[in-house]
Amino acid sequence: TEEKSLNFLEEIIENDLKAGKYKSIITRFPPEPNGYLHMGHAKSICLNFGLALKYGGKTNLRFDDTNPVTEETEYVESIKNDIQWLGFQWAEELYASDYFEKLYAFAVMLIKKDLAYVDDSSSEEIAKQKGTPTQPGTNSPFRSRSVEENLTLFADMRAGKYKDGEKVLRAKVDMAHINMHMRDPLMYRIKHAHHHRTANNWCIYPMYDFAHGQSDSIETITHSICTLEFIPHRELYDWFIKNLEIYPSHQYEFARLNMTYTVMSKRKLLQLVNEKHVAGWDDPRMPTLSGVRRRGYTPKSIREFCEKIGVAKRENLIDVGLLEFCVREDLNKISQRRMVVFDPLKVVITNYPDGKSETLTSEDNTEDANAGHREVPFSKEIYIEQEDFMEVAPKKYFRLAPGQMVRLKSAYIIKCDEVIKDVSGKITELRCSYIPESKSGSDTSGINVKGTIHWVSIPHAVKIETRLYDRLFKVENLGEAEGDFKEYLNPDSLQVQVAYAEPAITSAKESERYQFLRKGYFALDPDSSKDKFIFNRTVTLRDMWAK
Ligand code: ATP
Ligand code: MG
Ligand code: MG
Repeated sequence: TEEKSLNFLEEIIENDLKAGKYKSIITRFPPEPNGYLHMGHAKSICLNFGLALKYGGKTNLRFDDTNPVTEETEYVESIKNDIQWLGFQWAEELYASDYFEKLYAFAVMLIKKDLAYVDDSSSEEIAKQKGTPTQPGTNSPFRSRSVEENLTLFADMRAGKYKDGEKVLRAKVDMAHINMHMRDPLMYRIKHAHHHRTANNWCIYPMYDFAHGQSDSIETITHSICTLEFIPHRELYDWFIKNLEIYPSHQYEFARLNMTYTVMSKRKLLQLVNEKHVAGWDDPRMPTLSGVRRRGYTPKSIREFCEKIGVAKRENLIDVGLLEFCVREDLNKISQRRMVVFDPLKVVITNYPDGKSETLTSEDNTEDANAGHREVPFSKEIYIEQEDFMEVAPKKYFRLAPGQMVRLKSAYIIKCDEVIKDVSGKITELRCSYIPESKSGSDTSGINVKGTIHWVSIPHAVKIETRLYDRLFKVENLGEAEGDFKEYLNPDSLQVQVAYAEPAITSAKESERYQFLRKGYFALDPDSSKDKFIFNRTVTLRDMWAK
């Protein structure tokens, strides 16, 4: 087998293990429970869990739930479900909020070392004190408070003596530091808000920078992997760990996943949901894991995609066509084949006995030797696709045309004898004859036809609803699009169409995947009932966008 070269994180880990720095590695996936997971999170999950699996370590699931206002239990449940669906299992389920007491003690420790102080400045004043990247900041007038005073004030903040915004706790680093994040960053803010886990126990909440690294350290995370925008935070991450003298976790950064024709931010996806541009977080057009699952994408194809795109150190934009390629590859192997006619044209087989029908068999999956066969009823009246007939056909048209023959998939060869039109000249029906000796599997007719088309028996046909999806946005790179991203929504991203399916469709299951012959890959939608079958088109058979 071909040896794949290591990505930069694998190189770091292999060197660390070789040097004996760690006996085994611990990674974590740290979602904030403020929305549903998207494909970007899938990349992070595959990376964190994948590294631990590869090197025999473990991965914690840690909810980064330090902001009580935006977080909800509904999101926690969906995140757990999505990770397991992707095929990963965490070692421990943890919550940053479980560390609130420890984090508070860490803050007290820094106050005692005179490395943190309570500041009464307003957020505007603090912003002004920060200075600019080219100019040093200025010290807060509260920076020189005594350790005793700070301890008392911080305890009072916790006790609820102050209103939101009246005071903050800041790290005492350096207001002239070249890295703006090091200019006395906030550690705690006052927020009288109900938290989804700690209820009203707290009215002060740690900032990301004072929660994340400390949580990593508490869990002895060896490799804390995050996205590039956290590079400037790394210095502060290390500063807190050094001054608290706690387990030295290390932060590493990689480029976030961006994909063409979509947005990858919970905040924006939430807007699409709230403003009803889509039916919900699991709308099959959404790049959320619940959306792509409902659309019919398989976990395997998503893992394969994440593997293929690799781990980049620079921002980039991945073609959604690559994801669709991975989906097709997997679906081709596992899909049950079914015949479904979308734009029906009635065909009457004049030499087939009236009222007769027979049961033919067809392979469930030509790509899978273990897949079985299904029964397909055949009768005198069938539907074919309108596009499989041409009254005036060009030379190399191998489908049906007046006087021309075609094979009906898993059935017989038919010949078009007559075209029936209504008064307006529209074709309403074809009259054909079949060759009785040409039955698939036992064809003794000796007739060679080039084209094979799909069909359904009209008396046995099941009417289904199909939902055909196109790209959610009209532009390739939304990161570069100006103005409100919602102006670029594709108004034709959903098309609902009735279609006629062979009766085997009635045993469809949500867990199965289907290829509607010559039409695309489809998955049963959970909105279906036993009287109404709804199918989502997962992806077309070929890339319709390729030039
Ligand atoms: P969003 O902006 O969509 O809210 P986030 O980074 O704020 O994303 P978190 O819940 O904090 O969302 O993310 C959990 C983990 O997933 C983090 O480690 C984060 O870096 C990673 N992650 C989020 N988006 C992407 C992405 N597009 N590509 C790769 N990793 C991502
Ligand atoms: Mg985040
Ligand atoms: Mg976010």
